[in-house]
Amino acid sequence: MKPGLWIAVVLAASALCLAQQLPPAKSGEVRNEKHDSTETKPAPVTYIRAGRLFDSTSDNFRENVVIVVEGERIKSVQPAGAVQIPSDAKVIDLSKATVLPGLIDCHTHLGARADRYNPINYFKSTPYTQAFNAEKNARITLLAGFTSVRDVGSGPFMAVDLRNYIDSGYIIGPRVVASGPGISITGGHGDLNNFSPETHVTLFPEERNYQIADGPDQVRHVVRAQVKYGVDVIKILASGGVLSKGDSPGAAQFSFEELKVAAEEAHKAGRKIAAHAHGTQSIKDSILAGIDSIEHASLADDECIRLAKEHGTYFDMDIYNDDYLLGNAIKFGLEPENVEKERMVGQKQRDAFSRAVKAGVKMAFGTDAGVYPHGDNARQFATMVQYGMTPAQAIRTATQNSADLIGRSKDLGTIEVGKYADIIAVEGNPLQDVAVLQSVGFVMKGGVVYKDKLAGTPVQE
Ligand SMILES: [Zn+2]
Repeated sequence: MKPGLWIAVVLAASALCLAQQLPPAKSGEVRNEKHDSTETKPAPVTYIRAGRLFDSTSDNFRENVVIVVEGERIKSVQPAGAVQIPSDAKVIDLSKATVLPGLIDCHTHLGARADRYNPINYFKSTPYTQAFNAEKNARITLLAGFTSVRDVGSGPFMAVDLRNYIDSGYIIGPRVVASGPGISITGGHGDLNNFSPETHVTLFPEERNYQIADGPDQVRHVVRAQVKYGVDVIKILASGGVLSKGDSPGAAQFSFEELKVAAEEAHKAGRKIAAHAHGTQSIKDSILAGIDSIEHASLADDECIRLAKEHGTYFDMDIYNDDYLLGNAIKFGLEPENVEKERMVGQKQRDAFSRAVKAGVKMAFGTDAGVYPHGDNARQFATMVQYGMTPAQAIRTATQNSADLIGRSKDLGTIEVGKYADIIAVEGNPLQDVAVLQSVGFVMKGGVVYKDKLAGTPVQE
């Protein structure tokens, strides 16, 4: 079939289906899930005995608590002595474990694999390979205890479809806050550089992959086009990057004017906007443009830190993956140019993290999963503690703070009455050794148990 004809058929089919489509969730808005639908039987009730509860509303544990889950939400959280558990009730006994809110990673690429660094893969991957990766990685991520992720950069519009498939219960994964492709200047971090001019992004030439934009008008158009296809969040590539060719992480790419248009347009549509920004100037421009989070923030100086505090801008700093990029990624074909760039920014980013923590900049938890293998997200906790956070601070970054950054504090981020029952548990004491979060033994999302090596509850496969 000719491409034009194919498009016509797709259009006709989608027009017929339009009435049945879900409207996209705006940030801060709760997406209805299958458990909210028109079920008539009473919602199942589960009693969770928590030996130790870190509910993420403070830096301390509560001992011997019972959490009552009704349907997909938390109905009560009380001292065990205050709760009468009926004899025929469903009980999950985590009395020997530490119970915490489901973790949130605000910087993932579920469609990416960490063993595909050879540039030949640009020409081998298809929208389908990305989706297969994402299906597998979504499951791995959920089972590692991450019940929500923000996916910040994938082909158009894989993350939107992934989010919808998970929300409808068709596949298993975390709640996904979906972006489209990271918006880039021509020749920038999101473009395909230093190949023959015969080589170009071809998926949607007229939209330049919904990704490449030059000048305020094109930026405005791409943001609107991404919103049209259902993204929850806009990702813009304000500076050069580490894993691209021919650009420098320290160099500003979009102008202040372009970033301002992107932020305004995203906010008008009720979306948050995240800026990839390693370089000092691009961090400042992004904060002043009103962007909600600075991804990487590697070369943040004192002025950037002061501005972030003043504007309440989140830093979302992926300080673990340096170990992987300078280790295994080289074996998987990471090119010398990229290794050199990582050497340039990796340690500086960790030092900037320390200074930002000390200054009290709002911090989210983002790891750039996909750069390193999915499921290892919790390895970053130890690096965060090494560079100046307390374990409680690091955990609250990945729960309460990250829920705030993605605009979902009403539903996520703490164990409190009315929130989604996104609950995990570990053996050991994460406030003494935060690395125990690398072995999450129990995972519940929206009241459904997906993993239970601690109490032996049957799980959703
Ligand atoms: Zn990234």
